[in-house]
Amino acid sequence: MWQKTLAQPLHFEGIGLHGGKPVKVVIYPAPANQGLRFVRADLPGKPQIKAHYTRVTDTTRATTLAQGEATITTVEHFLAALGGLGVDNALIAVEGPEMPIMDGSAAPLTRLLAETGLRTLPWPRAYFLIQRAVELREGDRWMRVSPGEPRITYSIDFPHPLIRTQKFTVALRAESFRGEIAPARTFGFLQEVEYLQSRGLALGGSLDNAVVLDDNRVLNPEGFRFPEECVRHKILDAVGDLALLGLPLLGRVEVALGSHAFHLRFLEHLVGQEKAWRVWVPSPRDKEKPHSWFQSFLWEPAAA
Ligand SMILES: [Zn+2]
Repeated sequence: MWQKTLAQPLHFEGIGLHGGKPVKVVIYPAPANQGLRFVRADLPGKPQIKAHYTRVTDTTRATTLAQGEATITTVEHFLAALGGLGVDNALIAVEGPEMPIMDGSAAPLTRLLAETGLRTLPWPRAYFLIQRAVELREGDRWMRVSPGEPRITYSIDFPHPLIRTQKFTVALRAESFRGEIAPARTFGFLQEVEYLQSRGLALGGSLDNAVVLDDNRVLNPEGFRFPEECVRHKILDAVGDLALLGLPLLGRVEVALGSHAFHLRFLEHLVGQEKAWRVWVPSPRDKEKPHSWFQSFLWEPAAA
């Protein structure tokens, strides 16, 4: 129930997916109520960009945030790692316009955050508490939140013999995120990768940072990390997009055939339904309430 930040600054480096060049990143601890912010450390005046759904300017191949002239792209897996582990406040300083792709999953950052450790701040965490169900449908694609224990169910349907329909449910808790969602890599199809690279995009893309499928097999020699790695990665993406709400969501989330753009349209729709949610700060008195999941969820031990 207390806000968290990093115990100390975390330094690392990786390749940007689209530019194909090394990018340096430092994640600094931040005070309570600052939220997650990116800093373009390479630009004059080091402009900051708040990680908020209202700052999203593009979701075509990666999520891009902008504030003023400054932009930062490929933020989704970082936000998933920070949001998934319950980091409320951090300043993410990046020396370039693109976050490194790492291995295409959130596992490397999750491991680095575990080594760095988290620190509890002397300020209670506010939650985005769902009080009534809200749904958004666009053809076969839909997303819904409803009151209850925080968890997410996702389903996908791809016309590929190794994917087809996959469905997965997981609790929205740090330990479940770390073990079941963070290692799931992004996936793509060979034809798409060839097309992007012919147009000078995805230059850093390789079998080291994505699962690549041709018409009927996985090209990566190690294969999938989980039989349903693709749907687990869609959950990872959704956890990153939910972090753009700015407060941890307390409710059940269900998504079918989603995308970054659709998750974000849903967030706007949800925030507009003012009777469906409220900002809730638990007090120590709530500890006595007979909600079994409240007890374990709100007072679970620190994530890392
Ligand atoms: Zn992704």
